[in-house]
Amino acid sequence: MIDELSGLPGIGAKTAQRLAFHILHMPREDVKRLSQTIMDARENVRFCRECFTLTDSEVCPICSNAKRNHRQIMVVEDSRDLAAYEKTQKYDGVYHVLHGAISPMQGIGPSDIRLKELMKRLEGDVDEVIIATNSSLEGETTAMYIAKLLKPTGIRTTRIASGVPVGGDLEYTDEVTLLRALEGRTEI
Ligand code: ZN
Repeated sequence: MIDELSGLPGIGAKTAQRLAFHILHMPREDVKRLSQTIMDARENVRFCRECFTLTDSEVCPICSNAKRNHRQIMVVEDSRDLAAYEKTQKYDGVYHVLHGAISPMQGIGPSDIRLKELMKRLEGDVDEVIIATNSSLEGETTAMYIAKLLKPTGIRTTRIASGVPVGGDLEYTDEVTLLRALEGRTEI
């Protein structure tokens, strides 16, 4: 169990050992529920048909919420970034999850992320696309690429302010910084 747990991201040998002993002391029923939850999630999670975030329904709760502004789309690299913005509770638009960023170094090109799907969505009524990819080299490259793609469409395209530390993953940025980055976004 320690071996398996220490294979998870962010879990070192010590934490794995602590978790393993904790699990061994848990009531059988709780252990069963935990493993069943993990199994269920693995079985049922799929991509939202609209925004491609991970969800257990065909359309995620955000996309199916009529109160959200469906004409404002924030483009993020992955579902964790979406979760970070959701935590601020200040953004009422919808999202588009790319599942990666363009990285020539790693051989990841525009067709390896969900860009085609984004362009398809933009055929509908969209007022603004907010590019919220990370401020890493890959994130910036992706932002530039998207901005160029969108230029001919005439859709307002903005980039979140770089209040987000350079090279910093959105996921680890605190909510205040995220909000500032969103509010300070500029047209590109
Ligand atoms: Zn969705």
